[in-house]
Amino acid sequence: MATLSDGKRIVVKIGSALLVDRATGKLRAEWLHSLAQDVAWLKGQGKDVVLVSSGSIALGRGVLGLPATTLALEQSQAAAAVGQIRLARAYEEALEPHGITTAQVLVTLEDSADRRRYLNSRATMEQLLSLGVVPIVNENDTVATDEIRFGDNDRLAAQIAVTVAADQLILLSDVDGFYSANPNDDPDAIRYETVTTITPEIEAQAGDAGSGLSKGGMKTKLMAAKTATAAGCAMAISEGSPLRPLLALENGANATWFTAQSDPQTARKLWITAMKPRGSVTLDAGAVAAMSRGKSLLPAGVTAVQGPFARGDSISILTPAGHTIGYGLTRYSSREAEIIKGHQSSEIEELLGSPGRAALIHRDDLALS
Ligand code: GLU
Repeated sequence: MATLSDGKRIVVKIGSALLVDRATGKLRAEWLHSLAQDVAWLKGQGKDVVLVSSGSIALGRGVLGLPATTLALEQSQAAAAVGQIRLARAYEEALEPHGITTAQVLVTLEDSADRRRYLNSRATMEQLLSLGVVPIVNENDTVATDEIRFGDNDRLAAQIAVTVAADQLILLSDVDGFYSANPNDDPDAIRYETVTTITPEIEAQAGDAGSGLSKGGMKTKLMAAKTATAAGCAMAISEGSPLRPLLALENGANATWFTAQSDPQTARKLWITAMKPRGSVTLDAGAVAAMSRGKSLLPAGVTAVQGPFARGDSISILTPAGHTIGYGLTRYSSREAEIIKGHQSSEIEELLGSPGRAALIHRDDLALS
């Protein structure tokens, strides 16, 4: 069975019910401080941590005095706008005493569906993590309308885990795992320790019920598990309400672990290889050699460009003799690549009129054969 100590990059999803007291609509400050201790403990072991936190709507609702019943979309958007600023501040204040810098990252479904935007948000997240920052992620509820919403942070957290190539996703929830039936209704319900494959039988066992504050139920958690595990990320559902919930998980608290299928790097390579290439770049011999040593592809090593392709598309990478050595997601369109090919990265700004990324294809976006 997986344990937290195996993880190098961990995404933790925190449900509204853990952070916000249902009766008062106020932040559960003591709990948040204990979570901050857990985050500091994980960071102290050299792990990268990303928090995906719900709670903006629940917090904002309390501040605005909106009813506890279902809110209209514009009411929840207003509540999110009021609540998010408090939510971010609460995390900042909780983590700062541990010497941890936080960042607020608000995303919509489009940011992961559109490959260009996906590359942008991934580059930003990567930069934040390399600077030791703990990103606090939530859906940008204020601008997301129904059609472009995740709606629940379970699936959002899984998408973030895939985006940052995390190897573990922990859903801190108000239940301590995945059950064969709803344990509140069925005394014979059993909790799975480990789920290695999400079979149709397992799917049929996921009911719909969520708690009053959070959007997701077991269904969205299973969907999250599918997304995460297919991308090489193990996922756990565990009970978040006790203090120091992550330490508790490490010490053997109840949980269900969903086993990762392969590892994030392999899964990402498969994903890139499965895309249809939209064009190609031909390299000089020096660039071919650099790539085989695991380097990114710089414009200087490109001798020819064949498009049309757009930023974020997959393109083939060719040797001087025209043999395909792999595929990669390009950070420049074919039009731009044509202009910067053969040039030093320091010249990109002058050539394109705006500063760009140094690499044409970053090594994380490469699948070499
Ligand atoms: N994004 C919503 C919020 O912060 C929560 C969605 C969810 O509960 O899954 O209030």
